[in-house]
Amino acid sequence: MELRTATNNPDQTKELAASLSRLVKSGDLVVLTGDMGAGKTCFTQGLAKGLGIEGRVTSPTFTLANTYDGRLVLNHLDVYRLDDPSETLDLDLPEMLETGVTVIEWGEQIDAVLPADRLEIEIRWPENGEDDKRVIKLTAIGETWLQRSGDLARATGEWATKC
Ligand code: ADP
Ligand code: MG
Repeated sequence: MELRTATNNPDQTKELAASLSRLVKSGDLVVLTGDMGAGKTCFTQGLAKGLGIEGRVTSPTFTLANTYDGRLVLNHLDVYRLDDPSETLDLDLPEMLETGVTVIEWGEQIDAVLPADRLEIEIRWPENGEDDKRVIKLTAIGETWLQRSGDLARATGEWATKC
C-alpha cells in the first residue's frame, strides 16, 4: 500500500510525522529513505514530538543510535556511515526493535538485517522543486502495517486537508 503527499516546509514535515505518531506501536520499524538534507531527521523530530518526547532530537550520524522516552520509546538510528550491515550486530537490532518504535535513516542500506514488516518513508525534492518543498511517499509493508493502511490514509489525508 502506497501513499503520496507533499510538504511545503520543515514544519509541515514535522506535522505530518506527528500525525503519524498516533498510529505507531511498540515494535514498529520505520525506514526513512532520501538523500542528505531531504528531511529524514526533521521527520523524526516531528514523530518524537508527537510521541511526547520533549528533549532535542539530533541526528545520530555519529552516535549511530539514540533512544528517547515518550509515550513510547523511540530508537533513532542513522546508518549512513556503516560500511557493512554486519556492523549492526553490535547494536542488537532484534532486541532494540522490541523496546519501542525504531526509526532508521538510510535503513535501506541494511535491508539484509531488517525485518520485512515496516513503514517505508521516502522523502525527495520534487522535479522542478522549490527548495522547501518535499514529496513524501509512504509504503506500508507487512501484515501489521497493512492492517493499519486505512488509519494511515486517514492520518495523511487529515493532515493534508489541514494544510
Ligand atoms: P536528512 O536527515 O534527510 O539528511 P535533515 O532533516 O537533517 O535531512 O535536514 C533537512 C533540511 O531541509 C533542514 O535544514 C530543513 O530545514 C530543510 N527543509 C526545507 N524544506 C523542508 C521540508 N519540506 N521538509 C523537511 N525539511 C525541509
Ligand atoms: Mg539525518
